[in-house]
Amino acid sequence: MTFDTLGLSDPILKAVTEQGYDAPSPIQAKAIPAVISGKDVMAAARTGTGKTAGFTLPILQRLSGGERAHGTQVRVLILTPTRELAAQVGSSVATYGKNLPLRSAVVFGGVKINPQMMKLRKGVDVLVATPGRLLDLYGQNAVRFKHLEILVLDEADRMLDMGFIHDIRKIVSHLPAKRQTLMFSATFSDEFRRLARGLVNNPVEISVSAPNTTVETVEQWICPVDKKRKSALLAQLIHDNGWEQVLVFTKTKHGANRLARQLEKAGIQADAIHGNKSQGARTRALAGFKKGATRILVATDIAARGLDIDQLPHVVNFDLPHVPEDYVHRIGRTARAGASGEAVSLVSADEFKQLRDIERLINQVIDRRVIDDFEPVHDLPESILASRPARHNKQKRSRTDHSDGQRSGENARGHKPSGKNKKHRGDRNRSNNTTSSGQSKTRRPRNRNRVAKAS
Ligand code: AMP
Repeated sequence: MTFDTLGLSDPILKAVTEQGYDAPSPIQAKAIPAVISGKDVMAAARTGTGKTAGFTLPILQRLSGGERAHGTQVRVLILTPTRELAAQVGSSVATYGKNLPLRSAVVFGGVKINPQMMKLRKGVDVLVATPGRLLDLYGQNAVRFKHLEILVLDEADRMLDMGFIHDIRKIVSHLPAKRQTLMFSATFSDEFRRLARGLVNNPVEISVSAPNTTVETVEQWICPVDKKRKSALLAQLIHDNGWEQVLVFTKTKHGANRLARQLEKAGIQADAIHGNKSQGARTRALAGFKKGATRILVATDIAARGLDIDQLPHVVNFDLPHVPEDYVHRIGRTARAGASGEAVSLVSADEFKQLRDIERLINQVIDRRVIDDFEPVHDLPESILASRPARHNKQKRSRTDHSDGQRSGENARGHKPSGKNKKHRGDRNRSNNTTSSGQSKTRRPRNRNRVAKAS
């Protein structure tokens, strides 16, 4: 299939060709005609599937026909959970719409509101926004939705996780009832469906699996290691393997800062990105990482969510996530667009429960490699896939790190870090495994690599 069979006009096709896309991705092939025909859409598609173009291209197509926005009015509103995602979606709108006479703007919290108000004054055809700042702008009469044609909720599941439900409902109450609504989410969770019920009308349901759904293109392995030795191990892995561009995930913002400092001390350029950093610092950190000036970017889940960094070769889970789905999101940062990638998790004994949940979710026991000189004293129990598969539909809430910069206590729902003081199972000293080389030689796993699909 090619893009020119989907009903897109020449100026849009030209922009797509300039991006070097040969063929539409599965989500694009399904979503583009549905959106162009004016239908509501509910799509389960993760970042990395091409979903942004999947809704942006047909939206631009629909907009190019109608009357331009004027006087603080907005024709298309795209809501995203984080600033980074808003900025990325905004730049996709600008890229794909560059040959069209349409105005677009991006608004999010953590930066001055006045320039955003100025931008909205003449009206914009496409507005990309995070919920909190949008409500502020609305409250100050800087934006109006009388002529709104299309509402998009991007990463709606994450917006729900972050506690934006009331903001979303409030925003929707200001929109015309007669509109087209498009909702995107990583999965069709119960909560997502509940939200959708009041928002979409007879929607086309689209579900595609990510091209990078863990098993196929990402080489995954775990390094059993004691908690205290994780940063030294990471520095050694980076050094010995010559890793040049690594996205590292930590559980907490403080953990991200601390690790970035420790890596810097070890002579490895590193920066941290999370919700406590100013927008300027986050933008600079991401830009430095993208152009290769910063070798290691340490991030929390929400800050990293949706980051589009082309062909990222390595992802490291410094801490395992508490929500197993986040593991899939994290490693989805690598091996994009068919490239191969590597995802390494440094796992200490107290994280065994998280590891077990992840392995159940992806239905695979992940390869283990113990690095010489970093053999854990606190042994990681063997993985055995339970015959009961992980429950996919009941999603836990993930830790929130307020990456929108406007949310406070009420949205800070999350899990208590677990297991810190848990008794270690199978503790034993394994110093007999050390070698004198000091190199990162790896020992292959003791447990099986894969098991048959759980029933
Ligand atoms: P998304 O899932 O929207 O975050 O997109 C992931 C990446 O895929 C982005 O870098 C896009 O530029 C890229 N992309 C989107 N559509 C296509 C396509 N049809 N062919 C190749 N790459 C694409």
